[in-house]
Amino acid sequence: MENTSEMTEEQQVFLKHIQQKCLKRTSQRDLILDVFLRTEEHLSSEDLYRLVKQEDPSIGQTTVYRTLKLLSEAGLAREVRFGDGRTHYEHNYKHQHHDHMICSECGKIIEFFSAELEAIQDAMAAKHKFEVTQHLLRIIGLCSDCRRVKKLAIKGEPAPQLRSKVAGGRSIR
Ligand SMILES: [Zn+2]
Ligand SMILES: [Zn+2]
Ligand SMILES: [Zn+2]
Repeated sequence: MENTSEMTEEQQVFLKHIQQKCLKRTSQRDLILDVFLRTEEHLSSEDLYRLVKQEDPSIGQTTVYRTLKLLSEAGLAREVRFGDGRTHYEHNYKHQHHDHMICSECGKIIEFFSAELEAIQDAMAAKHKFEVTQHLLRIIGLCSDCRRVKKLAIKGEPAPQLRSKVAGGRSIR
């Protein structure tokens, strides 16, 4: 029997899930969960792999990928897509649902929640007799920083250099 008394709630949720799947708790899976929970980011599997590898170089990319899938199934991670062709993951456990605005210039991600928007989406689904299991709302545009830069450029002033990458850099097309 595992000693669950010193485990965090998230670790217990994860353990329960992997036991249901008849998998074993391993130190590698534990580390992947730990690194994931320490990062308040929208990580792709590659991003997480890079972070995990710094702490245990023996962990393979496939292990990270499969563990992320397990975290999603267990409800600890949520998949989000930002239109860059990659799946990103964010914390899901006891995190309130939210949606995203994505800057197409610098990749900045703004999280927002609107009860009105959520209610309208539910009403639309009901109208079409559609059962919603999940929804991903993403709004693409220019963030305030990038809009400021654009405005300066229009006035003929030298535009400040745009950061081509943000933390965990992702370019969005
Ligand atoms: Zn939403
Ligand atoms: Zn921007
Ligand atoms: Zn988010």
